Amino acid sequence: MPLVVHKYGGSSVADVEKIRNVAKRVVQTKLDGNDVIVVVSAMGKTTNNLIALANEITAAPPEREMDMLLATGEQVTIALLAMAIHAMGHRAVSMTGPQVGILTDGSHSRARVTHVRDDRVREELAEGNVVIVAGFQGTTIDGEITTLGRGGSDTTAVAIAVALNADVCDIFTDVDGVYTADPRVVKNARRLDVITYEEMLELASLGAKVLHSRSVELAWKYRIPLRVRSTFTEDEGTLVVHESMIEDMERVVVSGVTADKNQAKVSLRDVPDKPGIAAQVFRAISDAGINIDMIIQNVGHDGNTDLSFTVPRDDLRKTLAIGRDICDKIGATKIEPAENIAKVSAVGIGMKSHSGIAARMFETFAHAGINIHMISTSEIKISCVIDLEHADRAVQLLHDQFQLGEVAAAS
Ligand code: ADP
Ligand code: ASP
Ligand code: MG
Repeated sequence: MPLVVHKYGGSSVADVEKIRNVAKRVVQTKLDGNDVIVVVSAMGKTTNNLIALANEITAAPPEREMDMLLATGEQVTIALLAMAIHAMGHRAVSMTGPQVGILTDGSHSRARVTHVRDDRVREELAEGNVVIVAGFQGTTIDGEITTLGRGGSDTTAVAIAVALNADVCDIFTDVDGVYTADPRVVKNARRLDVITYEEMLELASLGAKVLHSRSVELAWKYRIPLRVRSTFTEDEGTLVVHESMIEDMERVVVSGVTADKNQAKVSLRDVPDKPGIAAQVFRAISDAGINIDMIIQNVGHDGNTDLSFTVPRDDLRKTLAIGRDICDKIGATKIEPAENIAKVSAVGIGMKSHSGIAARMFETFAHAGINIHMISTSEIKISCVIDLEHADRAVQLLHDQFQLGEVAAAS
């Protein structure tokens, strides 16, 4: 019997009616002759509300307790969905991440899945149950509850699909697929029928929250067919596939544009320009588990230089605390945060064989009077850090520049 994994995000299970709608879809999939595993998120804005509660208690909640708190959100949904399926006269059993055996490392709030046990889930499927799994959560081998980072239920779904060797993993959400840009920002964004794992991974890592980036990484590694679809229609959605499955690849240069508004920039002023300094700075920050993204070091003057880098905005406070310490140690004069920035990126596999995309991006910003603070490029993407206030306009301008709203995006 084919095995399918469905994942339903927060807005798809936001209230009782929506949970009933999900129950119907799941039961129909089972009646169509499939074994079904369902991964669900917390209802609606539950996770945000729990974070707000914690912040009312303290500005710096211990990460372990934060995970204990946030993991409760998904548990509500699994139980309610199981009840809804029972009420329709069908069999379902809900399971938490630890009950399934979703094992992770110990990095609270950003844990990585290391192993998924398949025995309990297989037993339940064999009994004829739909298995409903709480997304976003796991356990260390010592039994500590962890969470996988915001949006992490997508990764739970793919990790389970990998462990159980599922035939397909469907990510049901509040849009009907992956678009050339966030359809809430760019009105003429176009739905893509297919996108490569490589492009989807870049878009997800660069702020397109429609998929958690780690889920794409896993699906790519294990070649799991991944589909992004609407919870509310029967549309086939967008299929994320291997590059070799897309014909006419060379016609598309830029596939999508995205903005990451959750970054912050940190600058260290008058850093001594000598060997070993960058190593000292970035070792200390990386040891604190903080991911640095872009780095710029200016040309030295009078034996000193300035060093700027970006970090996730949630890690800014921690970065500044570590940075102040380092400044004292290495003799830098000061550390300056810039919170109101955004990273805007254009992504496309066709960039591998086309030049001039960066120039067009910079010209677009130049004409619009948008100042670029930092730039980084890879084979298939170009990113610019700009002021946060221009982020949405910049995405729309690039979308227009690369003609992504038009059917055959030739650019
Ligand atoms: P869920 O709660 O189902 O996990 P998310 O809010 O995490 O849903 O992701 C879906 C949202 O992603 C959409 O509502 C949309 O605004 C946003 N989004 C950002 N970039 C894109 C894109 N390129 N294509 C589709 N949706 C996008
Ligand atoms: N509930 C979690 C969040 O809001 C995980 C998820 O929805 O994927 O980030
Ligand atoms: Mg999501």
